[in-house]
Amino acid sequence: MHSSITIVGASLAGVRAAEALRSEGFEGVIKLIGDEAHVPYDRPPLSKSFLEGAMTSERLSLLTKEKITELELQIRTGSKASKLDIDSQTFEIEGEVEGFDALVIATGARARKLPNTEKIKGIHTLRSLDDSIEIRDSFKSGNPKVVVVGGGFIGCEVAATASAFGIEVTIVESQDVPLSHVLGEEAGRVISKLHTDNGVQLKCGVEVQEFKGENQVEGVLLKDGTLLEADVVIVGIGATPNTEWLEDSGLTIENGVCCDQTCLAAPNIVAAGDVARWDHRGYGKSIRLEHWDNAAEQGKHAALRLLQKDSEALPYAPIPWFWSDQFDRKIQLAGISSPGDDFEVIVDSPEEGRYTAIYGNEGRLKAVLGINRPRHVMQFKSLMEEEASWKEALDFAKGIG
Ligand code: FAD
Ligand code: NAP
Repeated sequence: MHSSITIVGASLAGVRAAEALRSEGFEGVIKLIGDEAHVPYDRPPLSKSFLEGAMTSERLSLLTKEKITELELQIRTGSKASKLDIDSQTFEIEGEVEGFDALVIATGARARKLPNTEKIKGIHTLRSLDDSIEIRDSFKSGNPKVVVVGGGFIGCEVAATASAFGIEVTIVESQDVPLSHVLGEEAGRVISKLHTDNGVQLKCGVEVQEFKGENQVEGVLLKDGTLLEADVVIVGIGATPNTEWLEDSGLTIENGVCCDQTCLAAPNIVAAGDVARWDHRGYGKSIRLEHWDNAAEQGKHAALRLLQKDSEALPYAPIPWFWSDQFDRKIQLAGISSPGDDFEVIVDSPEEGRYTAIYGNEGRLKAVLGINRPRHVMQFKSLMEEEASWKEALDFAKGIG
């Protein structure tokens, strides 16, 4: 049994790992190390209620002082780990070499940036609390014109929040339909309509040529020649896993930390959350997810793996699930959809803002999308857990509405 467990990455996966260890009765030392100055906090509100001003930063907190004491956590913020070496079981932190008995890697992901934008004021990415505060302040100063680059989750959520401020906002998306990389084109069009109905301008199938303005952004020139005026730009073009500190560590890094089915990356080392790529038994391939529910669940699973013998370790094979709040809609997807999937709309009620659709492949139910339809999402998710066929899913769909 380990006498201490070190968790690097003090956010959702890391905190859930620490909580799970104590719940399971682990009595050794738990060290939680994070490079942000803040105590661990939750990210989803950063593009929604916190950005809107409807929530305080205290309410984002994942750990209160009392909880830190109760869990007996040795927490160290503002400290970046580097140079992991799995043979010597050490890493560097603040110029010192530190050893570990067992390690949870939970260093998450960071926002991808467009080149040469760092020095231009008014161009933001959104990943951290500080990013969200800066963007919120810029929304409040005057009546800014906002351009959002990337029509993924960050882009769509920020655009929805900005328009709630009464701000003029345009989304620039390189694909023809926002969110089609996750939801497919038909469902992506439903989300597009939600945005245009609420006054958001969409410029799709086009990329940014350059930003105008010397020190402060003034406009965005697109490759089709369109010039959009802009006082504030938010770039939401995806995330990159934080694995640089693991280079030459001896771990396998391939767009994430590669783990086996049980989240083990090497003896005494597990990974969880946005940074982890693992062999998902149900999908028969390795996957990496960037969603809240996975970070929470995998954080627990991976930490407990460190307390188990190899012979008793369980595979981690959840049906993925996430939500996104945009305007008055709760959009939820369970499962994984892929281009070319069978697609069946079960409910389409624009007046009520309700929509349910299912995705299938090779005769199996693969995913369900619900807009303001949480019950349907949970019902079809249960069917996926039972490995329902596409026909069984369609038969089930006939009985609901
Ligand atoms: P992260 O939250 O990325 O945390 C990793 C931590 O490790 C960070 O604090 C990082 O600074 C730190 N770190 C990195 N490298 C080091 C190092 N070398 N040393 C020490 N510390 C290090 N998901 C949903 O399902 N629904 C939503 O509505 C939703 N909304 C979101 C809104 C926003 C604005 C963002 C950014 C994400 C949202 N997500 C949402 C995704 C969800 O928040 C993430 O999946 C989740 O935060 C991942 O948790 P994590 O602990 O794996 O990693
Ligand atoms: P994302 O969901 O991957 O979407 C990025 C979008 O930007 C994609 O549509 C992508 O298109 C497009 N894009 C890429 N390069 C572009 C370019 N140069 N110009 C214009 N568009 C471009 O990533 P994200 O929205 O930035 O979110 C970042 C992270 O936060 C992800 O981990 C995400 O899961 C997480 N997050 C999740 C939620 C949620 O689950 N509700 C909410 C917010 C954030 P291509 O696919 O063609 O590259």
